[in-house]
Order: sequence, then C-alpha cells, then structure tokens
Amino acid sequence: MSEQAPPEQIVRVALDLPLRRLFDYRPPDDEPLSAGDIGYRVCVPFGQRQKIGIIVALGSDSDLPPGQLKPLTAVLRDVPPLPRSWFRLATFCAAYYHAPLGQVMLSTLPAGLRSVAPARPRPHRALAERAPAQAPPSLTADQQLALRVMAANAPGFHAYLLHGVTGSGKTEVYLRLIGRILEAGLQSLLLVPEINLTPQLEERVAARFPGAGLVSLHSGLGEAARSRNWRAALRGEARIVLGTRLAVFAPLPELGLIVVDEEHDASYKQQDGIRYSARDLAVFRARDNGLPIVLGSATPSLESWANAAAEDGRGRYQLLSLPQRAVEGARLPTVRTIDTRLDKPRDGLSATLLMAIEQRLAHGEQSLVFLNRRGYAPVMTCVACGWTSHCHRCAANLVLHLADHCLRCHHCGYQTRVSRQCPTCGNQDLSAFGRGTQRIEAVLGERFPQARILRVDRDSASNRRHWNALLASIRNGEADILVGTQMLAKGHDFPRLTLVGAVAPDAALFAADWRAPERLFAQLMQVAGRAGRAEWPGEVLLQTQFPDHPLYQALLRHDYRSFAAMLLREREQARFPPYAYQAMLRAEAPRMAEALSFLAAARACPALDRNPQVSSYDPVPMRLSRRASLERAQLLVESVSRPALQVFLDQWVSELEAQPVPSRLHWHLEVDPVEL
Ligand code: ADP
Ligand code: ZN
Ligand code: ZN
Repeated sequence: MSEQAPPEQIVRVALDLPLRRLFDYRPPDDEPLSAGDIGYRVCVPFGQRQKIGIIVALGSDSDLPPGQLKPLTAVLRDVPPLPRSWFRLATFCAAYYHAPLGQVMLSTLPAGLRSVAPARPRPHRALAERAPAQAPPSLTADQQLALRVMAANAPGFHAYLLHGVTGSGKTEVYLRLIGRILEAGLQSLLLVPEINLTPQLEERVAARFPGAGLVSLHSGLGEAARSRNWRAALRGEARIVLGTRLAVFAPLPELGLIVVDEEHDASYKQQDGIRYSARDLAVFRARDNGLPIVLGSATPSLESWANAAAEDGRGRYQLLSLPQRAVEGARLPTVRTIDTRLDKPRDGLSATLLMAIEQRLAHGEQSLVFLNRRGYAPVMTCVACGWTSHCHRCAANLVLHLADHCLRCHHCGYQTRVSRQCPTCGNQDLSAFGRGTQRIEAVLGERFPQARILRVDRDSASNRRHWNALLASIRNGEADILVGTQMLAKGHDFPRLTLVGAVAPDAALFAADWRAPERLFAQLMQVAGRAGRAEWPGEVLLQTQFPDHPLYQALLRHDYRSFAAMLLREREQARFPPYAYQAMLRAEAPRMAEALSFLAAARACPALDRNPQVSSYDPVPMRLSRRASLERAQLLVESVSRPALQVFLDQWVSELEAQPVPSRLHWHLEVDPVEL
C-alpha cells in the first residue's frame, strides 16, 4: 500500500502589479506555512527579479501545473503579520474602486517595506515628550451634550457628524474621546486633510497626552520616519495615529476610534493612482470593525449632511451640533457683501475693500485678500443682466473652450457655439468671467507701498519647514496683508487677522463643476472663521455682482443648514449626488480623437446594455491637460442605485481591459468623482 503524498501547499501572494489576480508560489524550501503566516510580507521571484508581496491565503490547488510553481524566496517576519481587519479594508477598497488588490495592498505600505533591499529597523520615537499634561478646559454645555450622547450609546459602530462652527471646540471633543479610548487601552486614528497645514493640532494632541505614544503618518515625513511610525502602529506601540488620507490604511490591531476632521475637505480624495476617498473608507473601516467614528466639520459635505439630517430621524449618522464658539465672548465675524455693479473693482479691488484694508493698516491689524480661482474654467457671462452660459440639459455651467470657440458642458457633453449676444437681454458685450485677479498682489503693492505683503500659495509653502516659518511670521505680525488661496483657509489661529476680503467669489457660481458652490461656501465659512478672535472682532467682505444670491445670503447669517437644505433640494431635482452615484472613465492620448474614440467604444460595451439602471453621457474633452502633450477626455456614468452601479462597473472594467487600445492611450476609472 503506497501512502498518498499530501496535497502540495500553495501560497497565494498579492503583488504590486496592474493585474486583478493573486500569484501562486510554493513555501520556501518546502517548509510548510501555517495560517498564522497569512499577512506576512514575502520576497518572491518574479521573472528575472525579486519582488515583495503579501501572503493573502494558503491553498492546495493551483491553476499552474505543480512543476511550474516556484518557491518563495523568504518570509519576512521583521514586522508582525498584517491583521485580518486590514485585509478586509484593502479588499473592500479594491472591490469598490475597481483596483487590483495587490496594488491597493502594496501601495499603502511605506516604501521601505515594499522594497527588496532590507530596511534597517530602528526603534520609533514617539512625538510626545514627557512634559506635564496640559490641563483641559472645562467643557461648554454643547460639548458636554455631544460627549454624553456618544458615551450613552452601546459599544459598536456609530457614525457621528459633529457639526460645529469654526472655533466651537470640535478638537476639544476629539481630545476627550481620544482620552477615553486611551484609558480603555485602545488605539485612536485621527485623520486630518493636510498635515502640513495643521502642525498646531499635532502639538495640541502631544501636549494633552504626553508620552502616550502619538505618531504621525503623512507625506511630509522622511521615508525612515514614516516606516518607523507605521511599524509602531502595527505593533500597537503607537496609541494615537495622526495622519493624512493614506493613514486610513494604517494597520491598527487595537483600533477603538476614528476621527475625520474637516470631513468635507477635498484632499481626502486621492486624485491619482487608486482614486479612493479616505473619508468613505474610514466609515467602512469603523463599521467593519464595530467602532465609533466622528466626522467633524463646520461645513459638512452634502453627502454626510444628507446622511445625518434625514428629516424622518432615520439618518444613518447621528448629528451633534456645536453652534457657538467655545471661548467666552468670541463672536463670529460680520459678513458683508460689496456690490461690484455699484463699486466697480479696479484691477480686481473695490474701493470699499481698499478702504477697509487701509483702516486695518492704520490699526496694525492684518488683512487677508482671498482668491479662490484654482481649478475654475472660464464661462461666458453677461455683465448687464447677470446671465451665464448654463447647460439646458442639466444643472451645470458651460465652459468656454477658446481653441475651437465653443461652449461645452463638462457634465453631460452638450456643446454649442459661442453666442455673440446675450440670449436674455441682447447685450453684445459678453465676457469670459474671472479675469483681472492675477495682478492683485502688484496692485496692492502700488496702493500700499509701506505695507508688508505676503503671498501664500502652493509654491511659497512648498514644504513643512517653509510653511511653519510662514505661519510663524504671520502670527508674529511680520506681515500686514496676506494674499492667498485655499491654503490659508484651514484651521489656523492668526490673532491679528481681522479682515478677510474675498475678491472673486462669483467665479465659483460660474464654475463648470456643479460642486463649486458647495466648496465656495465651505471655503468662505472657513476663511471667515480665521478673522477675529476673542478680543478683536472680525469682518468679512465679499465682492460680488450677485449680493442677493442665496449662497451669500446664507453666509451673512452663518447659516450652513439652510444653504445645505437648498443645495440638497437642487441636487435631488437634478438627480445629482448624493441622490445618484457616479463614476468617471477618463482617457488620455496624444490626440483628442483617440481619447474620444476609446470612450465611444467604451460606451458601446455590452455592459451598458445589460444594466438598464445605469445611464451614460456623451464623452467630453477636458480642458487641455498640462501633462506632456497628452489630451484628455472623460465619460460619466451614473445610477440612482449604488449596488447597480457597482455590478455594472465590474462587468465594464473586464470588458475594457479586454479591449485593445493604442499604445500611448491610458485610461482609468474614478468611482464617486469629486471634480469634473
Ligand atoms: P474647532 O476645532 O471647532 O475649530 P477648537 O477645539 O480648536 O475648535 O477650539 C477653539 C478654541 O476654543 C481653542 O482655542 C480652544 O482651546 C478653545 N476651547 C475649546 N473648548 C473650550 C472650552 N470648553 N472652554 C474654553 N475654551 C475652549
Ligand atoms: Zn449638461
Ligand atoms: Zn444679458
């Protein structure tokens, strides 16, 4: 009787390759592995090279004939295996965003753990020094209520939307929650939009919990530090992880709480590679792990607001409000409009605004001239009656494409020739909106030669050190007038800043992207939150042609709720998100015709016919890409059912991958796109 050979063991490995499958290997030197080895990194032969992968499963049969299976080179046990909860998150991310699992898994590891060259492990240094803990302030009534509501809920998954005006003490609420979680012996994950913009938060957390094991994870860290902090998280040495969007993937075996600060912020959306939303993944992670999650904002995303504010009280998120500033006597600033039809700006600046700046200069206070022009495309407007080129097929604006002299809807693809006169009033003097703001810094310099003017943008704040130096000089009063974009809008305390002038807010009303008004409102609320602190009252001036616009009217009253309710009604009528679910297929190629014909072929795929709940729009050219001589076009698909859209996307991606494409054409899919 011959004994049957035991079935050969197969190790399934995820590799960083654009292929939607795992790769089979034999254990090293035929030494069998156990279930406890799942989650370890491995080094495997791949072609002529060695690659790092992750063991996803063990099995006993393979599509490959046994002779062709190669053994693993090594199992890397230098860090503990990645936990199962981390696998579930990566698997969900891969499925929902239709990305290869191996790419998702490997791309979230620090580079040092992805490369074959052995990393030199060094003990991590927690950020927090052992200083005496800072005494927390006694809570306001609203903070107490919010915390009591959360404490009263049974353990398990709960999503809270903490809606609080700037300075209302949201951060204090996070700190109290983190304190509870530390006492319970669990880890906390605190996500922030851009850590370069929030060094103050890091200091605040460290000061509150000295020696508690705070680490940060963000792109501003050197590779070694990032690797060290990531390992500390995985080993459980880090008890508080403060990080940007990629940190949503940090392996945390004892996670007890997730906080997403400024949850509406666009930087939670990864815009290349795997295009995920860290906020949405955080909610999945909390639900999957059975934990509370707090989404905080002064101006929540409409998606989150719709989840929290369901009028029947059956919202999926619980709404908690902090309607007042926490510091005694601190007031929200006064917001006023300047009607630019009466007070015509010269070189972008109205007389009223210039006068207000002059007053601040005389008092030694700071002014911020706020420009929100990034990402906006020109649309046609009529100065006489306020008409704008609007798409009659949907609720978006038409964008002016000067190259072929036409107006195009970036949402549905409708296009038309540029008209010579206003269709409403007949005025022949139509203009492309949004010119004349470039020279603002120069004009301010001419007008106020004695003032110290500081421009703050991506370039001047290119790295963390520059940024911190810049912030310090602003706080120390080394600048009189700041000229800046979104960068300055986010959570900073500038005690001397008492005036904010928004010079071109109307640009957002005219933007091609129908989400622009939502973003404008959020930015202006935030920027307004910068002006004026306890003893120095602040003022916000908005230069606009449309002072009666409901967006500005809501801002004057600091009334996010009614603005959100209005936008949600519009979205519901137009069937825009959050009342529909979208995905965008983008193609780039040397010539526009190639990109468009790829998208046309994609639209003709059988998957669309098989899924009647999903609709598609015409492919449209995007504005010319800045990337080296490639032109880009996009195709939007949508459905009122998220599951139906997902089923369709699965089929569609398989069909697209089977399509031959020209060698220099690239395409990608973005689920829940936030920018058109
Ligand atoms: P937010 O995160 O909502 O902008 P913060 O938590 O940063 O608000 O609080 C704003 C300011 O109010 C900070 O200076 C903070 O120290 C202070 N603060 C917060 N809570 C309280 C409180 N209960 N009593 C006194 N001051 C508070
Ligand atoms: Zn349209
Ligand atoms: Zn007109």
